[in-house]
Amino acid sequence: MTDWKLPWKASCLCGQVQIEISAPPISTMACHCRDCQKLTGGAYSLTFMLPADGFTAEGETEIGGLHRENLRHHFCTHCKNWLYTDGFAEGLVNVRPTLLEDPSWVVPYAETYTSERLPAAQTGAVLSFETFPSDADFPAIVEGFTKHGSRP
Ligand SMILES: [Zn+2]
Ligand SMILES: [Zn+2]
Repeated sequence: MTDWKLPWKASCLCGQVQIEISAPPISTMACHCRDCQKLTGGAYSLTFMLPADGFTAEGETEIGGLHRENLRHHFCTHCKNWLYTDGFAEGLVNVRPTLLEDPSWVVPYAETYTSERLPAAQTGAVLSFETFPSDADFPAIVEGFTKHGSRP
């Protein structure tokens, strides 16, 4: 019932950073905020929220984006692909599901910052938040995803 078919392989555009995911995400999210639009060059960002001990990255990475101490965006040094983010919560890392070898099954369970959503950007998310969800909203996001989130 909860066969996640782990581990999952992922990589940056040029392949110099190889990622392995060995624990299931606690949620999958889409963010429509202006920062994510600029960071991705796309309409929104996609995120796996993962336990940090279920994630490894091999290859050289560097910090990019806004260089915030509590929100560290890691990029490949060669192709400059945005890979993952840490520093925002102990024991968690946010990884871009678009880097997966097979992202064909990924549907975000929650979407954030719909107040800044581009008119054509539809994500299929079950839960929508006008800005970023509060700490009080997270249990429902995690529980809903655990029961009903998309699987490979
Ligand atoms: Zn690369
Ligand atoms: Zn965002």
